[in-house]
Amino acid sequence: MSARFAADVFGYTAMKKILLSYVQPVMVLAVLLFWAFAPAAWTKSPWSIVAATLLATALIQALEWVNERHSSWRLTKREFFTDAFYVALSYTVIAWLTAKLADEPLTAVKQSLGITTGWALHMPFVVQVALVVFLVEFGQYWMHRLMHNQSFFWSTHAPHHHLTQLNAMKGAVGNPLELFLISLSVVALFDLQQTAVFCAINILTVISSFAHANTRFDPPRWYGFFFTTIRNHSLHHSTGYEQTRCNYGNSLILLDRIFGTYSDGEAELVGQDERRRLSIPEQFLFPARPLIDRLKGQQSRADTEVAA
Ligand SMILES: [Zn+2]
Ligand SMILES: [Zn+2]
Repeated sequence: MSARFAADVFGYTAMKKILLSYVQPVMVLAVLLFWAFAPAAWTKSPWSIVAATLLATALIQALEWVNERHSSWRLTKREFFTDAFYVALSYTVIAWLTAKLADEPLTAVKQSLGITTGWALHMPFVVQVALVVFLVEFGQYWMHRLMHNQSFFWSTHAPHHHLTQLNAMKGAVGNPLELFLISLSVVALFDLQQTAVFCAINILTVISSFAHANTRFDPPRWYGFFFTTIRNHSLHHSTGYEQTRCNYGNSLILLDRIFGTYSDGEAELVGQDERRRLSIPEQFLFPARPLIDRLKGQQSRADTEVAA
């Protein structure tokens, strides 16, 4: 190979690496610009957020075929249909439960107590978006940390850690009770522009989808300082239980840096309990397992007594 050709190859590889590293930050920026400047006719409808987040998820899922991280995580039909089922569940049942059991009661309390946060409504758009991102992530961080430190809460979250591979939609996969608990936030207590809330949700979807995606678009260091990436989130999905007790930030890894739970590293081998993949019924029933085991024990004792 001539020296000039080698330099070209090196230059091309380095350039490609730089371009790929900007895929994630550019997508976050594009989402921010869309919600800031798109016509109100597009952004005012509640369906706009459904369409925008589904589109972002589909795009990131498609990017797994452009530049995959591990061939061992390649999406199979079974994984795809399980993931799609949970995405559908999140957009319907879980979203409805969160609205009815958390956000609407919180809004009612806010109104009955006469709480107003007009100052929030008058902040610049970007600051409102940042506030929502922070509020959602702050709640998720502590809920997630609780789930790794208390046995009942862990039993709701463990199915997410039984995943044996990571893909763009895997952030939505888990026991329904966990999905509900992790969706709780105090955003409803604040008066904010609807589009700022939608923008923040869309940004969080992009970051957390990339943090679960089988893609190799390793972002610049500054991005990984603030936001969760597949590198650090895959470490959170490690096979050992103790190894999972770090990097709790779903999208804002900065919180782990602040609260001392950040750990650098990466894992390809993921999944708890000797990497046993759970079926959807097993994921749904997981927290009830101690109860089911006890009932089964009583039944088998009763059978033994009858036989005797
Ligand atoms: Zn976890
Ligand atoms: Zn995860």
